[in-house]
Amino acid sequence: MPTERIGLMGGSFNPIHMGHYDMAQAAMQAAGLSKVLFIPSGLPPHKQIVEATGEKRFQMVTAAIGRDKALVPSRIELDRQGVIYSVDTLLLLKKQYPDSALFFIIGEDTLYELPSWRNFETVLKLCTFLVVPRPQDALRQQSREAALKRLAALNARIQAVPMLPRNISSTGIRDSLKQGHMPDTLSPAVQAYIALNSLYGFPAWIDGASPLVDRLFDTLSASRFSHSLSTCLCARELALIHGVDAEKALLAALLHDCAKCFKAERLRLILSENGLTHDPRLLLSGTLMHSLAGEFIAKTEYNIIDPDVLSAIACHTCGKPGMNALDMIIYLADKIEPGRKPYAGLETLRELSRTDLRGAVTASLKSTVQYLQDNRQSIHPMIYDTLDWLQTQTQ
Ligand code: FE
Ligand code: FE
Repeated sequence: MPTERIGLMGGSFNPIHMGHYDMAQAAMQAAGLSKVLFIPSGLPPHKQIVEATGEKRFQMVTAAIGRDKALVPSRIELDRQGVIYSVDTLLLLKKQYPDSALFFIIGEDTLYELPSWRNFETVLKLCTFLVVPRPQDALRQQSREAALKRLAALNARIQAVPMLPRNISSTGIRDSLKQGHMPDTLSPAVQAYIALNSLYGFPAWIDGASPLVDRLFDTLSASRFSHSLSTCLCARELALIHGVDAEKALLAALLHDCAKCFKAERLRLILSENGLTHDPRLLLSGTLMHSLAGEFIAKTEYNIIDPDVLSAIACHTCGKPGMNALDMIIYLADKIEPGRKPYAGLETLRELSRTDLRGAVTASLKSTVQYLQDNRQSIHPMIYDTLDWLQTQTQ
């Protein structure tokens, strides 16, 4: 008996969109898969990729699916040279997962092309095909039946995945981007990624962000990378609503968690060696150290010199007395970005953030205090200092 049932989603992901995500979810449900590997292609035989490099497409895939532990970006095709055929990838994966059952997730249109795949008969032995419906016409219905007959004669294992066909195409998305329109069929993190890197001809939100994004990608976990990008989207929107410099908001949002994935000992060392704090309560708190260390890392490793950006990074966990609108936006965007798992009061906080920054920060800090009290965790005095100061501002 196979130990694990693994789904495979291949493609150029140029760019990855919600249709890909829905396909993977539907396939997982239908076939009881424990995970799905997303495999961006290196140099596909029939397509010339000019719009985004393999590396950028891999980062986009990570941004899109990084928060779902069951969805795993795979470099198996990107790290190989030359033309790569599915049969080679399947053979490699079989070696990597000898006891697992492999399920190739394909759109119905690909079903018709299967017999022309290289070493097709070997491919059939290595995996089951999970076929996702596509919008189609009557003519295709005929070729579908012919293909199915041919596949059945070869004992192909094919399972239909029930889902409503969606009409999202990467080509259409690239066309929209070229015209400066951001499609909502892209996940929030991918939207921010494309705009920060100015991919597909979309006008850049800020100049020179690409190397910062690359560096973050190398130091953050997949889920933190995705969160940081979604925070950018949210921070920019709040900055535009509240008349705050959107470029500063984007930079601070992008880098707010740049030290979040460092180990506690490393954070403690950064803070103590550089004399950034001697506060024993802060030095014992894993979560609070990363904002202050993040300010330092943003300065020394990402070459950020703008004091406003640095301040917003430093106070994104507890706020501070005297925090300005940019500080509040970063504090809030971190808590309410579109990829956040739902929590009590989230929607109210999102609404309030659009109309009343101080009120929203107050509400969020109060619910943090409540949460920490309920869970008998210690509360850093800075939270109370911020709340006291906010109260003097609203009087
Ligand atoms: Fe953080
Ligand atoms: Fe964060």
